[in-house]
Amino acid sequence: MALRPIVTLPNLVLKRKAKPITKFDKNLQTLIDDMIETMRDAPGVGLAAPQVDISEQLIVVEYSEDDDDDDEGDEEKPEKLKKLYVMINPEIVKTSEEKVLGVEGCLSIPGIQGEVERFEAIQVKGLNRFGKPQKLKLKGWMARIFQHEIDHLNGILFTDLATRLWKFQEEEEHEL
Ligand code: ZN
Repeated sequence: MALRPIVTLPNLVLKRKAKPITKFDKNLQTLIDDMIETMRDAPGVGLAAPQVDISEQLIVVEYSEDDDDDDEGDEEKPEKLKKLYVMINPEIVKTSEEKVLGVEGCLSIPGIQGEVERFEAIQVKGLNRFGKPQKLKLKGWMARIFQHEIDHLNGILFTDLATRLWKFQEEEEHEL
């Protein structure tokens, strides 16, 4: 595994529509492992292939629901369980009616945050790293991360959608 440089604006690969993946070969496995390592190193909670200069439809997401700042008085939470997802050729097949505002940042747009409206829940279908179909039901932050990453595959950045943008200085934990 190796770290790959994360491309930032104004690199045009970020504005391009990524190609579907059809070959599940060794190169793809290496790319996936590299992306996971790069995401963890950044650190970020999601990464799309165009962010490492590969214009192909692949995203990785790793996030713990516990990272949500909701102190709803859950008596006993199990230890932080991070879920890692690898999704190839992802497609949003169903969305909730409800939309929610949330604050996002992006590893490819350092120093900027913004408020973006996203579907509260989605269903995504795609392929796993071996080409096997998978379907996920996601809500809350996980749904937001997937929408942000899938947008990357269509050349859409959160700054294109944000209702409000601002600069920030301090470290941000929820980079995408
Ligand atoms: Zn991003």
